[in-house]
Amino acid sequence: MKPATSTSISIARRGLMLAISSPSGAGKSTIARTLLETDKQIGLSVSVTTRQRRPSEIAGIHYHFVSLREFERLRDSDSLLEWAEVHGNFYGTPREPVETAMAEGRDMLFDIDWQGAQQLQEKMPADVVSIFVLPPTMTELQSRLHRRAEDSEEVIATRLANSRAEIAHWREYDYVIINDDLDAAFDAVQSIVKAERLRRDRRHGMFDFVRGLLEETPKL
Ligand code: 5GP
Repeated sequence: MKPATSTSISIARRGLMLAISSPSGAGKSTIARTLLETDKQIGLSVSVTTRQRRPSEIAGIHYHFVSLREFERLRDSDSLLEWAEVHGNFYGTPREPVETAMAEGRDMLFDIDWQGAQQLQEKMPADVVSIFVLPPTMTELQSRLHRRAEDSEEVIATRLANSRAEIAHWREYDYVIINDDLDAAFDAVQSIVKAERLRRDRRHGMFDFVRGLLEETPKL
């Protein structure tokens, strides 16, 4: 049984699949990291990727780094719940950890692009809650990419161009958040998670609870 969200009474419920997408530089990673640190009920779906590991990344924590051949093996054996090519590399969500988490009523966070979010929504419409994070302006997005100071002008220009393509999919998401203030944006994400955990159709344990409630005869 999961801990209850609003009271001390535990009601069993299905796990939540929280998919967050945004153009590069809109703040998605910071929001995701803060959520994982503050909300111990939610775990991260660690993707497989053919991209080279960045120095700051840890294999198995941020990604499972695999060769193209291994990626194709996983994809062709139906071991990936979704997959996509993003900025010239392949990314995919391992199926097994997600299915286990859902069966146990645990929540999972997916930091994936629009193609991945679309596939998850098609495959598991009842479990997926999707959030799109927008920058306040394209100028702000550009200066955030510059502030990172880790990319060449050319790479920044490519990311900005890709951002437009990513933003074009905003209507496919359940929720859209404008990240002009990180605290407010994170607050909005927390509110979404809290409300979605309380949805009646997700809380199958409610049947037993209400049955017990109606069978109870208070002693006078
Ligand atoms: P990065 O290389 O900067 O870590 O990620 C590039 C993009 O790929 C980001 O938008 C990220 O959300 C997306 N991404 C990461 N993992 C997956 C995945 O498993 N599936 C899909 N579809 N996109 C992913």
